Amino acid sequence: MAAACGLDDAAAAPARPVPVDAASWDARVAGYPADLGYLARGAARRLDPDLVLPGVRSMVVAAVSYATAAPGAEALPPGHVFVSRHAWCLDYHRTVGERMERLAAAIAGATGARTRWYVDTGPVPEKAWAAAAGLGFVGRNGLLIHPRLGSFAFLGAVLTDAEVEGRTPVPDGCGSCRACADACPARALPRPYELDASRCAAFLNAACRSPVSADLLPGLASNLYGCDLCQDACPWNRRADRPAREEFRPLPGLHLPAVADVLALGEEGVRALFAPTAGHRRDPRLVLDVASRLAGGV
Ligand code: SF4
Ligand code: SF4
Repeated sequence: MAAACGLDDAAAAPARPVPVDAASWDARVAGYPADLGYLARGAARRLDPDLVLPGVRSMVVAAVSYATAAPGAEALPPGHVFVSRHAWCLDYHRTVGERMERLAAAIAGATGARTRWYVDTGPVPEKAWAAAAGLGFVGRNGLLIHPRLGSFAFLGAVLTDAEVEGRTPVPDGCGSCRACADACPARALPRPYELDASRCAAFLNAACRSPVSADLLPGLASNLYGCDLCQDACPWNRRADRPAREEFRPLPGLHLPAVADVLALGEEGVRALFAPTAGHRRDPRLVLDVASRLAGGV
C-alpha cells in the first residue's frame, strides 16, 4: 500500500498516549528557545492522539526519501553557501502531503475506518511515532534513521480508528559512533540524543525570528538556510538508498548558491527564490541578514 502511494515505507504503532509525564514535558520545553514555543502550546494534543482523533487506535507513519545525487555542503566552492536539502526542493508539505492523502484514502477504502493525516505541521511528533512503529531508530543527532533510507526522509502520519498491525522496533544503530557530534559546527549535540536547539544552525537560520547573535555566527558554518552537516556525517546516510525523485531535486538558484548572487536578489528576489519551497515562510530580510554576515567568511 505504501509503495502504491509513492512512499518508501510505512509502519504502524498502537495509538496510545505518549508515555511522558506532563511535569517532565513542561521542564523540557521550558528550555527550548522562544520560537519553538508552539511545541509547549500544543503539548496535550501532541502527547495524546485521542485528543486529535477521538477513538484512534493506530498511528501509521510513512517515510519518503528525499535523497538525490546532488552533492551536499562538502562540494561548496569558496564564496558559496548551503541551503538544506529539505528546503532546496519543492515544499514537502505539498509533495509528501499528496502521498499521505493517498495513504489515508487507501486505509479508509480498505477498512472503512476514519483517518486524519499530517506532515510535520500537525499535533503529531512523527519522529517518536516512527520509532514506536518500527520504522527506524532515533539517532544520537536526534533524527529518525531508517535502516534502508537513512535520515534524509520526510515523515508523515495517518491517525486511524482501524487496527493496523505493527512491526518489531529497530534497535539503536549508533553504537560507539559520534560522527554527527564531531561534525556539528555549533557544538549543538553535547550529549547523545540531546539537541541544543538554541545553538543549532538549522534553528538559528530557519526557525528563529531574530537575527543570529554574533557569538553564534561561527556555528552557522556556510549554512544560509538549514544545515545537513550532522546528517552528511552519518554512516547510515552514506549507504542509504537514493531514489532521486524529480520533486526533491534542487530548484534553480538553491543548490550551493554563490552568496553574492543571493545578496543581489534583494528582498523580493529572495522571497521568490524560496516561494516554492518549505522555506517560503522565512522572512527574506533574515535570509539576507545571514547571507551578508556569511559573505565575510565563506
Ligand atoms: S543541524 Fe547542523 S548545527 Fe544543528 S545539530 Fe546538526 S550539524 Fe549541528
Ligand atoms: S553519525 Fe553516528 S552517532 Fe550520529 S546518528 Fe549517525 S550513527 Fe548515530
